[in-house]
Amino acid sequence: MAIQVIRMDSNENPLGPSPMAVEAARRALAESNRYPDGASTRLRQRLAGHLNVPPENLVFGNGSTELILLAGQAFLGESDEGITPAVAFPMYAMAVREAGARVVEVPLREYIIDLEAMAAAVTPRTRLLYTANPNNPTGTCFTAAAFENFLGRISPHVLVVLDEAYFDYANRPGYSRSLEWVAEGRNLLVLRTFSKVYGLAGFRIGYGIARPEIIAAFDRVRAPFNTSVTAQAAALAALDDREHVRRSLETNRAGMAQLARGLERIGVPFVPSAGNFILVRLGVDGQAVAEAMLSLGVQVRPMAWMGFPKAIRVTAGLAGENELFLAALAQALDGVPGARIVST
Ligand SMILES: *Cc1c(COP(=O)(O)O)cnc(C)c1O
Repeated sequence: MAIQVIRMDSNENPLGPSPMAVEAARRALAESNRYPDGASTRLRQRLAGHLNVPPENLVFGNGSTELILLAGQAFLGESDEGITPAVAFPMYAMAVREAGARVVEVPLREYIIDLEAMAAAVTPRTRLLYTANPNNPTGTCFTAAAFENFLGRISPHVLVVLDEAYFDYANRPGYSRSLEWVAEGRNLLVLRTFSKVYGLAGFRIGYGIARPEIIAAFDRVRAPFNTSVTAQAAALAALDDREHVRRSLETNRAGMAQLARGLERIGVPFVPSAGNFILVRLGVDGQAVAEAMLSLGVQVRPMAWMGFPKAIRVTAGLAGENELFLAALAQALDGVPGARIVST
């Protein structure tokens, strides 16, 4: 019989989707003979109120991933350059490559996105620059002050994409003033998603916030019905489900602390994270450890494909899942050549 596998590999919400969102999507199914509202009017109005931004500052995507890709289509030509951190969400580099432009990768410094080096990498050919706060897979942040300084150095022919997929988890004083920078008219697209804290990854809906001229450039390249009737309904209801968001943030806070304590106890180093996941620095082959853990029923993400062959990334789960992860990690490390013997 197949064992039940706990999925801690994709930074999903371990509490599940907002129940109010699921109910709203169920009701929306009755209208699924109709095309969706291509302007997402109701969701747009509601989200604009929620964020306190004008409705024309918003664009919705089939996940924020679609907007990452569309940025390449909308802003890059074949003789242009797009800049991405060397270790980050792989979709940034893919978007640049797909547009036929040159990918310029800027190494991290001590697991942190090097904003100084990113700014220094801009040339007259640069049209697009991707950055993430916190970054995935490291979970590291830069401060609002550091980013403001960086923005001041970026020439006006470059659109900066600031991916805030983990905004709600990271939000604390001094973390970000992204909406203020949009209101100031900067060349900035801020990306957020319903996939993480709202638990709607399977619905595929995310959004961008920027000044209207930038939003118009996205509207020219996106398909008119890129978000579904059910996704729009679920997102709209999720914004009202404050209790689910509160519980999700509380579960994550507790889970991240539990994972950090447990990793310290078994003596495995990790990168301190502001998101809902942790980059665990094993010092041995992450693929081998991830495979051993999978056979113990815990799925984590080996990180070679993101530039860390000796690391895994784990998403914070429910308390019992985190315990199973720690036990499976200790057991897997005991069986991998070169790993120090750990004890729980
Ligand atoms: C999870 C994640 C997203 C969200 O992607 P969706 O397409 O909205 O599901 C975006 N950026 C990063 C860095 C992520 O980790």
